[in-house]
Amino acid sequence: MNHPDAADATEPAAFDALVIGAGPAGSAAATWLAQAGWSVALIEKQDFPRRKVCGECVAASNLPLLHALGIGAAFDALAGPELRDVRVHGAGQAITAGLPPSDNAAMPWGRALGREALDGLLLERARAAGATVWQPWQVVSLQGGAGDWRCTLKSPVDKAPVRLQAPVLIDAHGSWESLPGDTAAPGEPPRAPVERGAALLAFKAHFLQADLPPGTIHVLSLDGGYGGMVVSGGGLCTVACCIRRDHLRALRSQRPGLSAGDAVDGWLRAQCPAVAEALARATRQGGWLACGPLATGRQPLASDPVFRIGNAAGEAHPILGEGMSMALQSAALLCAQLLHDPALRRAPTAAALADCQRRYARDWQRTFGPRMRLAAAFAHAAMHPRAAQLLMALLRHWPGLLTAGARWGGKARVAPLPA
Ligand SMILES: Cc1cc2nc3c(=O)[nH]c(=O)nc-3n(C[C@H](O)[C@H](O)[C@H](O)COP(=O)(O)OP(=O)(O)OC[C@H]3O[C@@H](n4cnc5c(N)ncnc54)[C@H](O)[C@@H]3O)c2cc1C
Repeated sequence: MNHPDAADATEPAAFDALVIGAGPAGSAAATWLAQAGWSVALIEKQDFPRRKVCGECVAASNLPLLHALGIGAAFDALAGPELRDVRVHGAGQAITAGLPPSDNAAMPWGRALGREALDGLLLERARAAGATVWQPWQVVSLQGGAGDWRCTLKSPVDKAPVRLQAPVLIDAHGSWESLPGDTAAPGEPPRAPVERGAALLAFKAHFLQADLPPGTIHVLSLDGGYGGMVVSGGGLCTVACCIRRDHLRALRSQRPGLSAGDAVDGWLRAQCPAVAEALARATRQGGWLACGPLATGRQPLASDPVFRIGNAAGEAHPILGEGMSMALQSAALLCAQLLHDPALRRAPTAAALADCQRRYARDWQRTFGPRMRLAAAFAHAAMHPRAAQLLMALLRHWPGLLTAGARWGGKARVAPLPA
């Protein structure tokens, strides 16, 4: 850790910004602010490398951001093959179409990289840029409001709690739990998910020696859920999926004693012959990792005193594989607004912070609103057998719809840099 030992200090250690969570969103925001001269505390509760439920496809639209963050070369060296096609499996058929190249001709294709590697690269970049990293420390209490935030951190080992303060609070803690004391902004409806995703649980596993041709993202339409397969860095095959909780319960009740991971593994192979073929001779690396339920549909509120990025701001159905794009790109949108007004550093007024939040919420909605709606429509079609049959019939006649859908979903549009 590169932070002073603030455990004994009576006064909280002061920063320009506190960033909670060092996933792609938090580490990217911490790096951009630190590079611009802000003093930033980046707080991450887990030790890295850590496993993460994710399909691990990084869309080409993010590659310029990764290069601007200073990890482009490392990403290029570690990531899997270029992803040029998408293949949708459903209703007993498979339909393939080309992915659209990104608008940046120098980096046209996305690639996949395990989160153990990617998140570590991003976090170390934030540290190198000058962010003070607290890891593994968890934010256990939050007090104050816009312009004067105070938080208390707890270490898993036996250390005294640490207190930090800053005028700007950036919530990048992901989507699987709420932050302590997190409340809705005044006058706004509670931050409950707009659309609950029908209680979807998410799973992921890595396989070695899978029989999967490289260069294609496989999207799986399944009765009771959806999923994806891809060759990522180091020749690993990443398999990730979402399954309705009631569907999983029914599967497990047929074979008492079956673990959730094994039930999902069997479900994927039984539902999709392409999965069974790809994994027939493969060896799983570690167990199935699970998380959930998904809470899709949130969005940042213009009146929220907390700046939220990544999944903490809003989560799309992962069928489009755009969550990390939204994490990196929402960090870029927010940093562009924070860096636009030099007065926002150090002693910003409540009015200036509120104005910044309004502009960020507007930009977020314009950038990600259509992506969220497209992901929800595709996900619902993919996980209901009747709708999936219609979808596959449509794609059989117009496979170009897949290419167009990937473009509408943001895969080709290069994200603007924050400054
Ligand atoms: C099945 C599935 C497949 C997916 N496939 C893809 C894909 O192929 N491509 C893609 O781009 N996206 C995909 N996603 C989405 C992607 O994984 C997420 O959108 C992305 O991880 C969000 O990044 P984030 O930085 O917002 O949050 P996270 O990556 O969740 O990071 C949040 C961090 O905050 C930390 N934290 C939480 N609470 C605290 C606290 N109190 N104190 C300190 N630290 C805290 C956590 O430990 C965590 O490290 C998929 C998701 C699922 C579920």
